[in-house]
Amino acid sequence: IVFNSCKDSSGKNGIKEDDTSNEISQKVAELVNEMTLEEKVGQMTQLNISVFFNEDSLDHKKLKYHIIEKGLGSILNTPFNSAYSLENWRNLNTLIQDYAKESRTKIPLIYGIDAIHGTTYTQNSTLFPHNIGMAATRNPELVKQLAKITAKEVRASGIRWNFDPVFGVGRNPLWPRFEETFGEDPYLTGELGVAAINGYEEDGLSNPTAVAACIKHYLGYPAPAIGKDRTPAYIPEILLKEIYLPPFEKAVKTGCPTVMVNSGAINGVPTHANKYLLTDLLKKELGFKGFVVTDWEDIIYLYRDHKIAKNNKEAVKIAINAGIDMSMVPFEDTFYNDLIELVKEGEVPMSRINDAVSRILKVKYQLGLFNNPYPEEGTETNFGKEEYARTALQAAQESITLLKNDTIKGKAVLPLSKNSKILLAGPGANSLATLHGSWSYIWEGVRDDLYPESTLTIREAIENKIGKNNIITVAPERFDEIKNSHISLLKGYASQCDAIILCLGENSYAETNGNMDDLELPDDQLQLALAAIETGKPVILVLTEGRPLIINKIEPGIHGVLQAYRPGSKGAEAISNILFGDYNPEGVLPYSYPQHTGNIVTYDAPGRAENYYNPQWPFGYGLSYTTFKIEDLKISNDTLSGNTPLTVSVKVTNTGNIDGKLAIDLYTRDLVASLTPASKKLKRFTKTHLKAGESKTVKFALEKNDFSFINSNMERITEEGVFEVLVSNHSGRKVSEVDTKTRKVKTKDTDAH
Ligand code: BGC
Repeated sequence: IVFNSCKDSSGKNGIKEDDTSNEISQKVAELVNEMTLEEKVGQMTQLNISVFFNEDSLDHKKLKYHIIEKGLGSILNTPFNSAYSLENWRNLNTLIQDYAKESRTKIPLIYGIDAIHGTTYTQNSTLFPHNIGMAATRNPELVKQLAKITAKEVRASGIRWNFDPVFGVGRNPLWPRFEETFGEDPYLTGELGVAAINGYEEDGLSNPTAVAACIKHYLGYPAPAIGKDRTPAYIPEILLKEIYLPPFEKAVKTGCPTVMVNSGAINGVPTHANKYLLTDLLKKELGFKGFVVTDWEDIIYLYRDHKIAKNNKEAVKIAINAGIDMSMVPFEDTFYNDLIELVKEGEVPMSRINDAVSRILKVKYQLGLFNNPYPEEGTETNFGKEEYARTALQAAQESITLLKNDTIKGKAVLPLSKNSKILLAGPGANSLATLHGSWSYIWEGVRDDLYPESTLTIREAIENKIGKNNIITVAPERFDEIKNSHISLLKGYASQCDAIILCLGENSYAETNGNMDDLELPDDQLQLALAAIETGKPVILVLTEGRPLIINKIEPGIHGVLQAYRPGSKGAEAISNILFGDYNPEGVLPYSYPQHTGNIVTYDAPGRAENYYNPQWPFGYGLSYTTFKIEDLKISNDTLSGNTPLTVSVKVTNTGNIDGKLAIDLYTRDLVASLTPASKKLKRFTKTHLKAGESKTVKFALEKNDFSFINSNMERITEEGVFEVLVSNHSGRKVSEVDTKTRKVKTKDTDAH
């Protein structure tokens, strides 16, 4: 089997520049030619919908003023920071486009929204696992499917622009947006991110089941030095190019129409002011042809926070000259007035304005807004389908990762028998928020009352599975503090039960309000876990969390561990299916699960990483209810020369008694290089279904570039030398189940001098 899907997937379904055709460029040029400076600046402005609402009612006068008089180009977000009904969304978008038709230019608005794991802000939409869980599925096709469903539901709301996918590489779990990332590896991030773009944009942007993707947040956003959101980052150029840039490069190659900028500063330069990153690298070197939007109020922050401008006007000048095309949430009139003045004063060249507006208009044309700006008829039926919920369940099941499964008296603790008496405890048991995380019907995801009736908590899903009489629950109503009484109740009830399921982790949070000082499990959860361990009963830990909390103090006493990440609308059913054996787990970690906050090390750490890579569980780790064997690693040729690819094959066998899926990763390792090489790098991954007893041969194709790195001249090169190719079901060294196969390969005729 050749798994091409895991290779560079650029080119197939993305929006290629050629698709936009000369015809669009010509129309754009004509339109720009006819527009006044004021109208152009209007197009570069994006306002928050909330400013048009007074309490519950829409301020039509104000909306008309901005759209008709000021030629507003874009609106974003949801009124009241909360989900809206599908009908309300359609009506709102119809109204907005009606007003646009009353403006002189009649240019339709482009509405943008954050539908980052499903259609966040439409009531009763389907919410999927966050990216961090989707990365555990190692299944780009599934990621694409979720994006496609999201595109349909978003477009059904009359919206055509989605601020997703996140292409930031999440290498520090302290960062509160870790759950929005595809984890710590740049290759995995790029492949899954591109799969999402392909899902959003399949068959072209004008298709009424597509939305324009927005890759974000360019560049280096996940790496603030202290881990707190939007605090300064110091990232050497070599790391930017080796780790953070490659996923964005891949996305640009795919043809992504919009890019959102990192709110933070890198090496002292706020990204919104970084002409090198925005113009020289992104637009010129990588050839990005879409438009660049700021993040929330980020031009204002150039003087308020970053203090590189003395006032708004100077901030506008710096940002627009650096390459920003659209300002998200500026001061309502100030951005507009300041930018017009700056152009008149010659501080911002007219050519820059024309370039920005042309880029914006081109995307509006591509989206078909000029043909029909309204919610398309019939698209409302693309919303809330039963099959979406089934896909959400599948996604959650494929993501959940079994990290530990002890054998007690010759029998694995998991799966549990459906006849077991269960004691269910912990703050996650009754919480919908913990299953969903950020961007779930409300920005922070914390309002349990906003979730649809059909969404189950872990308690409800387990009750459905084994019957109410078989379960005793000791848990708070919401994800809040565990009380001492919970600990005593747990101790009291333990003797009546066969096993304890402990639901720990994190409440929901979004962005800055999820900042934390360390990754330790909160003390109340720790005490509850210790009490559970003391009972002597088998203890199964179910984690619902956006980032790995440190559990080294309790892990030795726990018999089974499920990492469920933020599994979404069907998360509770998925957890219960896995706990009770109705689904065989297949997720593998998209990050190195740390043992200590002070030792956050990624699997690709350079040099002799075995001396300091000491995670609780390594990147790629995940168990199954069956057993697998990987053997017979073969390479088509021992020497890689020129551009001829190598084929790597391994035989994989399901050596157990039940069917299962095996995710395997392929890594390359440079044995000696001119710069200390990464200990290994992920280059391919795949997942294969194997019936009990079945064997298959899995093949991967590798090219010269798969052995490359960024050298000290900041160039990507492949040196001559000897490399190892490893195929493994995880990247660890210290775990006894290691099943890694290694072969050597030589490179010749390379770029090395
Ligand atoms: C976030 C972005 C988001 C934007 C619009 C910002 O606070 O950083 O990711 O797209 O808000 O809601």
